[in-house]
Amino acid sequence: MTDRYASFVQSAAGRALVKRLGLPDPPRLRRHHPGDPLLAGVALLGAATGSRLAEPIAEILTTAGVELADPAATPQRYGALLFDATGITDSTELRQLYDFFHPQARAVLPSGRVIVLGTPPQECATPREATAQRALEGLVRSIGKEFGRGTTAQLVYVSRAGNAAADGPDLSAGTHTGLESTIRFLLSGRSAYVSGQVIRVGGGAASTPADWDRPLDGQVVLVTGAARGIGAALAKVLARDGAKVVALDIPAAGDALAAVANDIGGTAVQLDLTAPDAPTRLAEHLASRHGRVDVVVHNAGITRDKTLGRMDADRWDQVIDVNLSSQERINDMLLERELIPAGGRIISVSSIAGIAGNRGQTNYATSKAGVIGLVDSLAPALRERGISVNAVAPGFIETRLTARIPLVVREAGRRMNSLAQGGLPVDVAETIGWLAWPASGAVSGNVVRVCGQSLLGA
Ligand code: NAD
Repeated sequence: MTDRYASFVQSAAGRALVKRLGLPDPPRLRRHHPGDPLLAGVALLGAATGSRLAEPIAEILTTAGVELADPAATPQRYGALLFDATGITDSTELRQLYDFFHPQARAVLPSGRVIVLGTPPQECATPREATAQRALEGLVRSIGKEFGRGTTAQLVYVSRAGNAAADGPDLSAGTHTGLESTIRFLLSGRSAYVSGQVIRVGGGAASTPADWDRPLDGQVVLVTGAARGIGAALAKVLARDGAKVVALDIPAAGDALAAVANDIGGTAVQLDLTAPDAPTRLAEHLASRHGRVDVVVHNAGITRDKTLGRMDADRWDQVIDVNLSSQERINDMLLERELIPAGGRIISVSSIAGIAGNRGQTNYATSKAGVIGLVDSLAPALRERGISVNAVAPGFIETRLTARIPLVVREAGRRMNSLAQGGLPVDVAETIGWLAWPASGAVSGNVVRVCGQSLLGA
């Protein structure tokens, strides 16, 4: 599970060799530690003529303690470049992107951040505006591949609809409350392994936490598959952020599960999600102990790899049942019994295999693409109830699962992304954490890849 090559590259001898032979050069990524400033370095904020978000963004940055650079000052190095492109209504105006980014292309600090804000093309007034807004994706994905040294780049499409504040007046004139959690997440070390993503924000209710270092204070969160790997990291991160964690796994993983739950002051539930009575037993447990569950994280998953011609029906059935059908049954039961309140969150773990497909994984890729379908279909249906539904799609994450892959294939998987390294379970956990925050109510219907901008399925 350790990336020896990445450690070697950080040494003096390693650096010399990498330079001489032109080998992949995985940078050390900036990751989140509570109390850290949001950004290392100042931020440069620009806007296309007629844009609508520069003011709320400036306000978010100032509130978050990020220093804004003076564009007229002598050239300097930036922790982040943000550009509000919502004013661009025609392809001829895309030149404003070049004018902003070209002079700064070499001025971004290591683990820097690039964020472009746009209007969802389907909300644009004219085909020309929609075309220009869609074009933003190409710029952002290319910057993610070009800037290097751990810099990530994202496009955030912000709905014109505005967002209501769950705990305050309607803010439909602006989108400030709904956008803040996403801007904070993307600037911070929490999003270390997220790059080249298009995130849609808008429409839901969001509230501002009393303490941004504990954005999940008091929230009851269920994490399935919590005994090890990504699930164990998730339980830890969500508890660190203030959540009461209900950690669930199969009875055979009972000891490891108890260790995770004890470590974070959470509770453990031993349950096989595929058992016929699992939804009822889980609903009864949550109802009697907590009276509700604010966040459901469907993380449990299995692989049973074989090429389709060699795959027995059991392998197919087990994977579809654990990775997809059990999620549907549990969602149905928790929603039917109204155990997920308004402001609730459903977050599923998909995979880039569900986007790109993978040899030997027809069952797994089918289940993980199904998870994306679940998000697409459930998110609009649950919007009225104030419940958001999102998925994360991890790429190559350093876990027991990926440690078992043969060396050459493993090395290829690790390096074939813009950050030239595998992600850590904590990177997936931090991304799920952001989607779980009460402050992220305006983020729904998204599938966010945590893959370092993998070339697979790109
Ligand atoms: P893992 O095998 O280490 O952990 C999965 C956990 O789920 C285990 O503790 C297991 O006991 C539990 N589980 C399995 N079946 C269950 C059932 N029927 N009921 C209850 N619990 C059950 O896997 P991981 O690498 O931590 O992966 C977590 C999730 O992330 C999975 O959904 C996986 O498909 C997805 N994912 C992982 C990677 C990666 O690189 N590791 C990449 C993409 C997606």
